[in-house]
Amino acid sequence: MRDSFGRRIHYLRLSLTDACNLRCVYCLPEGIRFRPSAELLQDDEVLAIVRAAASLGIDKVRLTGGEPTVRAGVVELVRAIAAVPGLDDLSMTTNGLLLRELAEPLARAGLRRVNISLDTLDRQKFFCLTRRDRFDDVWAGIEAAEAAGLGPIKINTVVVRGHNEEDVVGLARLTLERGWDVRFIELMPLGRLSEFAADGFVPSSETKARIEAALGPLLLEPGNDGQEAACYYRLAGARGRIGLISSVTAPFCQRCNRLRVTADGRLRLCLLQDAEVDLLTPLRSGCSFEELRELIAEGIRHKPSGHRLAEAIHPQARAMSQVGG
Ligand code: SAM
Repeated sequence: MRDSFGRRIHYLRLSLTDACNLRCVYCLPEGIRFRPSAELLQDDEVLAIVRAAASLGIDKVRLTGGEPTVRAGVVELVRAIAAVPGLDDLSMTTNGLLLRELAEPLARAGLRRVNISLDTLDRQKFFCLTRRDRFDDVWAGIEAAEAAGLGPIKINTVVVRGHNEEDVVGLARLTLERGWDVRFIELMPLGRLSEFAADGFVPSSETKARIEAALGPLLLEPGNDGQEAACYYRLAGARGRIGLISSVTAPFCQRCNRLRVTADGRLRLCLLQDAEVDLLTPLRSGCSFEELRELIAEGIRHKPSGHRLAEAIHPQARAMSQVGG
């Protein structure tokens, strides 16, 4: 289905929970309360939404959170989503902490790929950024994901001034030996952490310059067709690629092909705008498949042209952990 700006909307990012087993300083505000599970979409409700979205042309689903792997019964839910007709691609964005145990069962259930968030290779900084001492578990999770065939592995790094802006070099160096995509993401302002994001913001241009000063020129990859959020580069002779995701300084809204559904069942049309469509209440009031489908279609028709950060309009209602990234 196309939106009113002619963009083909075929990618759904579905949050399975707002809870997380890390406490990243830029993502989860202090004192945030996770929703009780009764307020979250139940498995049959998740499946109803995926089926309705697939019938409108969604062919790519990414599971996110909170941390999607902490949802009870996640492997069985993945199996059921993977069986929905019309889906070509089922992936997950995760912090990797539980992948040592879950990578293999998730792959067998039909998950194709994972993006793993990792902001530093330094244990101490990892602890400062995530408020948890779990670096080794994440690293084991990345290796388990690769062994389970959940590749190509993509590592997502949010760059935060005063925390990890120097660490981009070590992370970029990984691509010399490993066939991974390492992607650096500009910090975005959401909710109560908007001010933190403004102070910690590092533009992609600075990240690129820092990597090039240490490791040599980043060569633009062929095949940057604008379909992905990242612009990809490669260090000379590297096995993997380096991606820059410049959502703030070079937004890709004109090419945005995404819908989001939050764990509490709201259809969100733009990551960085608060407008949402309530799907949970109609689902719990017994709406039909056609009615659910029409609610989603109507949302797509009203998808905004882009975010409004340039006008200093920030989303206020939710933290990133409650949207899913
Ligand atoms: N827990 C999972 C994970 O760690 O990947 C999935 C949810 S998390 C909200 C998804 C992604 O959003 C992570 O890569 C995280 O680093 C990123 N993220 C969180 N807050 C952000 C912010 N303010 N700006 C940019 N990216 C952010």
